Amino acid sequence: ASAAKPVGLDATKLQITKTTNPKEPHDPKTLVFGREFTDHMLTIEWTQTDGWLTPQITPYQNLSLDPATCVFHYAFECFEGMKAYKDKSGNVRLFRPDKNMERLNKSSARIALPTFEPTALIELITKFVKLDERFIPNERGYSLYLRPTMIGTQKTLGVGAPGSALLYVIASPVGPYYPTGFKAVSLEATDYAVRAWPGGVGDKKLGANYAPCIVPQLEAASRGFQQNLWLFGEEEYVTEVGTMNMFVALKNKETGQKELITAPLDGTILEGVTRDSILSLAREKLAPEGWAIVERKYTMKELAEASADGRLMEAFGAGTAAIVSPVRKISWKGNLVDCGLSDQEESGEIALRMKGWIEARQYGDEEHEWSYVC
Ligand code: PMP
Repeated sequence: ASAAKPVGLDATKLQITKTTNPKEPHDPKTLVFGREFTDHMLTIEWTQTDGWLTPQITPYQNLSLDPATCVFHYAFECFEGMKAYKDKSGNVRLFRPDKNMERLNKSSARIALPTFEPTALIELITKFVKLDERFIPNERGYSLYLRPTMIGTQKTLGVGAPGSALLYVIASPVGPYYPTGFKAVSLEATDYAVRAWPGGVGDKKLGANYAPCIVPQLEAASRGFQQNLWLFGEEEYVTEVGTMNMFVALKNKETGQKELITAPLDGTILEGVTRDSILSLAREKLAPEGWAIVERKYTMKELAEASADGRLMEAFGAGTAAIVSPVRKISWKGNLVDCGLSDQEESGEIALRMKGWIEARQYGDEEHEWSYVC
């Protein structure tokens, strides 16, 4: 008899085993990012012959894997970072989850792991976050950080496409990134290491992209900088800041036109959901005020020049964790490039307004198609 065709991910088959030992949610005021987890987890196994097996919600628990499992040797791992928010009426909302599903599928396909039906995983995540919704603090700024993860689980030291995989989602309650308001950060431009390169995998969310970034981060920290700024090439193009996309606002040298600039998606830049949201909001709300919204390459030299001329208005990182992270100074070639904030300011106007606009949609103050009610 011929084997049955591998099956797709089917949310209607979900089986739920609830914990018999529910825990008290952690005091929101003392949450540390990524340390506390909810009572349950979502897991779905995949095999090459059968496809996606029955989705399971189970008590949060250890995985048991053979030491030869391919994830431990060849980094068959990719992940997502997204959040669930509680709105004023107590509804749970996801923010643009379709974007995270699309990116996870792209990451997974790049490392020979399976892809899945995006709407099926959103449906499963919805059931999972609703089951554990008591862990989402009600206060503004708080949310439930979700970590969809895919790993190759085949037991083999042979280097090849994994014949089995595990897709799982865990959830961690998180507090506001800036509990006492914005704090602008200072960066060290890293010129001795690169994060990503043309033809590489820097535009995918692979675990393998992250471990090598820690040493340059520690180096920057040892000299008193909160983050490092990733440059690329002899031209020293500005690419990303730590694990965030980078935006700069400056006045054009020739025309004086105000420009909001970020690097283009040329394969070396992660396709940030926040980046995309900022570009979209900027086109909607800043363009009518006379701003040019520009995706183009720009160099550290160009920023230093704009700063020296007093044309650099502000710079900020953008990502799910903080939404925006204003930048005060960048250390580059022994100089400190001033990014336009006065000593009293912790954020520029664009970063501040963007945070407000994005939060309004995340928390459902503004009904918008980006907000997905669970
Ligand atoms: N760049 C990198 C390298 C990242 O890890 C992240 C975080 N996912 C981002 C940018 C920001 O992406 P997002 O807005 O989707 O969180």
